[in-house]
Amino acid sequence: MFWSIIFSEEASANEGPTREEILQQRMAYYLQFQDILIPWYYLAAVDQYERNIQGVRKDIPKRDSIIAIQFSEDYWTGPLNPIINDTSPVTISYFGGMGLDGDGDGIVNSDDDEDVLFTMSSFLSKYGSHEDDFKLALWDYYQSEKVVNQIVTIAKLFKHYDSIDLDSHTFPVALGYNYSYRGTWGANRGWGGRRIHEGTDVFADYSTPVLSASYGVVEVMGWNQFGGWRVGIRDNHNSYHYYAHLAYYDKGLKVGDVVEPGQVIGYVGSTGYGKEGTSGKFPPHLHYGIYKFDGRNEWAFDPYPSLLQWEKEAKQARKKR
Ligand SMILES: [Zn+2]
Repeated sequence: MFWSIIFSEEASANEGPTREEILQQRMAYYLQFQDILIPWYYLAAVDQYERNIQGVRKDIPKRDSIIAIQFSEDYWTGPLNPIINDTSPVTISYFGGMGLDGDGDGIVNSDDDEDVLFTMSSFLSKYGSHEDDFKLALWDYYQSEKVVNQIVTIAKLFKHYDSIDLDSHTFPVALGYNYSYRGTWGANRGWGGRRIHEGTDVFADYSTPVLSASYGVVEVMGWNQFGGWRVGIRDNHNSYHYYAHLAYYDKGLKVGDVVEPGQVIGYVGSTGYGKEGTSGKFPPHLHYGIYKFDGRNEWAFDPYPSLLQWEKEAKQARKKR
């Protein structure tokens, strides 16, 4: 609870902690509850995943705290535990509950961030320290290959940058080149008739650099009948960024690579709508789509408002230089 002491001195009465302070506090918790087997970025990745799904799902409660991980009542106190909201380590353990006392106050409290993190850390520790052990633990807990993949991706990013502060984005076409785009969400795609256009087309000349809009890990590369040469990049916010119709990829880019905002991933082209290598069936453009994974399904949402925002920020950043 040492953070509350620091905050009460630093933050004024009517202002909550800043984003930086929250990230610092989160990181301090991860470092406190990592152990020999479980590095901080495993805990951080599970926590970030839980925060991501709570942001988009209406059927699960939002944990309003520094740490987002939450356990079901049954899981926390034991499925056969007759005591409602049990907080005793003795009876919780007796009834097979997972909840543990992380801050040593003798109370097992699912509202306490330290108890929650210690419980997750202890659960993961039972499996071992190798990434395969981590994946198995996640599989046992979430029972979903897609969830395991998303969390492992977040862990990879946090580890690579040794940071959880990976929220910045940028416009996916390099400024300084001619380009144009507008909100075309839901417009008819034209080819194949009934498919809805899931994304925004940024029209630009051939070979205009295409940039990663986010931090992420390259998940998919290669030919797709509709998208032509495309790249799929999964980020730390459960978003999958889709870049299609590329003329060619940036040299050396491969599946599993870590990328960051502004990094060149490929070049604008007009590939797709046919067998491998088909090009020129439409004007050159980047088709950019974002899909959000909510823990069960992945659904497209309109990237246009984000593009406007990122373009504005990129232009401001350019002026400052
Ligand atoms: Zn498009």
